[in-house]
Order: sequence, then structure tokens, then C-alpha cells
Amino acid sequence: MKKISTSIVSFLFISTAALSWAETSLPVAEIAKPIVTPANTIDMAKATTPIEKPTTVVTKAHAQSSHSWSYTGQTGPAHWGDLSEKYSTCQSGKNQSPINIDSDAIEADLPAVKFKYNMLTPKNIVNTGHSIQVNMWSGGSINVDNQNFDLKQFHFHTPSENTINGKHAPLEAHFVHLNKAGDIAVVAMLFEPGASDRTLAALVKSMPNNKGETNKLDSKVLKHMEGEFKSSEYFRFNGSLTTPPCTEGVRWIVMRKPMGISDSQLLAFQKALKQPNSRPVQPLNARIVSK
Ligand SMILES: [Zn+2]
Repeated sequence: MKKISTSIVSFLFISTAALSWAETSLPVAEIAKPIVTPANTIDMAKATTPIEKPTTVVTKAHAQSSHSWSYTGQTGPAHWGDLSEKYSTCQSGKNQSPINIDSDAIEADLPAVKFKYNMLTPKNIVNTGHSIQVNMWSGGSINVDNQNFDLKQFHFHTPSENTINGKHAPLEAHFVHLNKAGDIAVVAMLFEPGASDRTLAALVKSMPNNKGETNKLDSKVLKHMEGEFKSSEYFRFNGSLTTPPCTEGVRWIVMRKPMGISDSQLLAFQKALKQPNSRPVQPLNARIVSK
């Protein structure tokens, strides 16, 4: 591994932590491709079937909306499992994310997670209506359980989804990685009030403030995340996506050292997201959290 600067190391530690919180908050299908909002889908249907009777269009719109979910009210987290058969795991799953992490987690002498974030090439930054998400072309990978997982996207939750000793952090980043088999490893990083973060500063400048908005990103915006590093300072557990369809079998790696975020940076995320986008913590059941 090449020698890296202290600042990069500290960012990596932070990044790793962010990844831990990295529940893949997006459905698997959304990880690798741009998100199609229900509104877009309906518009496309109308555009390609102009002769359809209005009633048919209404039916389609209803079918689509019955699968839509949110963070409040009748389509909120308590109802996700009822909105669609595809979302049933949100209700029946026994290994759901996020969770509360007890800092007295079992000491397991965890092997280091190796990060190779050498040529981070972002595609864009999207306001999905559920999160602010940076989609990646290429350039980032981690090695976990002797397998390589490529960084596909990362996104943000405010407040944090995972809690430490019952306490939320103001912001959590989830770095979503996939291996060749399609298995998911999420690195979560928590952000606590502090100095401004250089990468967040760059992202805020390109922040899409409205649902459905997509902005291009210059490759330089992620330069402070680049480097090769490894860390054993993380919490490890099995979990799920934190958004419908709440798919289980996700490797969660939550970095133990939070990073800093300034008040104005946090405000920028809150303004763009309009409302909190955190699923409540889920029962641990038979799971063990290691550190
Ligand atoms: Zn997430």
C-alpha cells in the first residue's frame, strides 16, 4: 500500500465509519441504475400510449402509487411491509437495518477492511426524494471476507439511521458496494458536529435541491476520499437495506470514529431532503454485533 497523507487517512477512517452506516438504503435494482420516479414512469406510459382511455391511465397510476413509500404517514416505515408483496421482508425480516449499536459490542479481533479508492469517478448526484445519492462510474472497491466489492453509490441519511448507545448522529453516509455475485456490503460513516468536511463541501456546491433533480459531478470532488487504506475500527453485523424492499444478507460495516460536519453543511442536506429520511432502529433479534 502506498503511503498516504494524514488527512487522507483521517478521511478514510471517517469514510469507513460512514460506510458502516452504509445501509443500502436503496432497493438493489436502484443501486446500479438511475432511479425512475413514479412520476417519470407514468409520464412515459402516457407518452407511449396516447390512445389509452383515461381510466386505464388512472389504474396504472394507482398501481404505481401503491408501491410508493415514504418516511411518514400511511406509507411510512411502519407500513412498508403492507404496501407491496415485494416489500414483505420489511415486516417479516429478522435481520433488518438499521440497528442500535451498543458500544460494548463483542470484541472479535475483526480483520481489517481494505479500501482501494484510487480513481474515484462519480457519475452524478441525484435527489431521489428519499436521499441525496452520488452514483459512481468506477474507481472504488473494498475487500471484505476475502472478496472484492465495488463502490456503486453512496447516499446520506439525516439524522443517522444506526444509533450508537441509543444516540443518533446528525448525518450518516452509506457507501454501497457490490461483489460479482451481487452481494451487498455497506460501509456506514457517521458525521458529528464539528469542522467542515472538504468532500461534503464539494458535494454541497452541486446539491440538487429538488426531488428528481440530477446534477453532474466533476471527478475532482471526490479527490479527498482517494487513497488506499485499511481499518479494523468498525462494528460488523448482518443486516438489510434500510429502504424497501428491505433485502437481507447485507454485510454492514459501521466505522467507529465519526467524521465532522459543519452546521451549514448539515443545513444544506436538510434543506435538500426536506424532511428526515431515517428508518427507525429495528430489533437485533438473534444477531451479534462485533467490533
Ligand atoms: Zn442508506
